[in-house]
Amino acid sequence: MCGPVVMAAVRSEMDRRGLFGAAGAALLAGAIGARSARATRQATPVGGAVTGQGTVALGSFTAIVDLSHTITPGFPLFPGGTPFELSSLQTYEADGYYGNRISVDEHTATHMDAPAHFDPEGVTADLLPVTGFVAPLAVVDISGRAATDDDAQLAPDDILAWEAANGPLPAGAFLAMFSGWEARLADPATFLNQAEDGTLHFPGFHPDATRLLVDERDIVGIGVDTMSLDFGASADFATHVTALTAGKYGLESLANLGTLPASGATIIVGGPKHQSASGGPARVFALV
Ligand SMILES: [Zn+2]
Repeated sequence: MCGPVVMAAVRSEMDRRGLFGAAGAALLAGAIGARSARATRQATPVGGAVTGQGTVALGSFTAIVDLSHTITPGFPLFPGGTPFELSSLQTYEADGYYGNRISVDEHTATHMDAPAHFDPEGVTADLLPVTGFVAPLAVVDISGRAATDDDAQLAPDDILAWEAANGPLPAGAFLAMFSGWEARLADPATFLNQAEDGTLHFPGFHPDATRLLVDERDIVGIGVDTMSLDFGASADFATHVTALTAGKYGLESLANLGTLPASGATIIVGGPKHQSASGGPARVFALV
């Protein structure tokens, strides 16, 4: 699914949006060196967005949106997980510079599920082709249903309705479910939403929708703003199995999906690259 057709589709989408034009030149200059980057910044027309320490010409894009949450010890974990830990290695006072050691479960906060997470024959995250990490982003909004149904699932009809409004799902797309669930992070227990009998209740992809995407569309992966691709009450993780055994990757606990258009954005996935990764924390962006 990441063959020449997908690469061509992504490249053509990027060309269309101008990333390999002015913005691409600016990004490349930044990578080559400060001197080049300075020259590029001087040449950047007014309107380039200031992001932290640099200025990047955005071409036909208007914004870069961070789709990752900050990893903290208090971020909700799937039951049985070990909280993120950060311990001091070096301090300015003792060492003259600052450094920490981190300990983190792979499936913590905003993170990737690699095919190998559910498929013994599947590829691990470090070996996924990067051609799938830049993709047209489709956002399917089920927040209306999720507001009144903790067990809401993104259904095949939601995908068909998205296509009726936005046109066919682009080749090589990444499809994300927006349920509005991240608002619950203000009270982490409600994000997990575990009932007294142990059952979790939060939205996810219905396996039939995942099957439609895998069999009848051309996607690189699927993502959610909840902590699992499957809805919380799933007993068989059928969406995980369907998507990951088809070689797709997943992104869970995505941030800020509600600020994005339903179509037209491009996702950029900075996936984990440690050896044998079943997944791992990911820095994910959208170009809008
Ligand atoms: Zn995961």
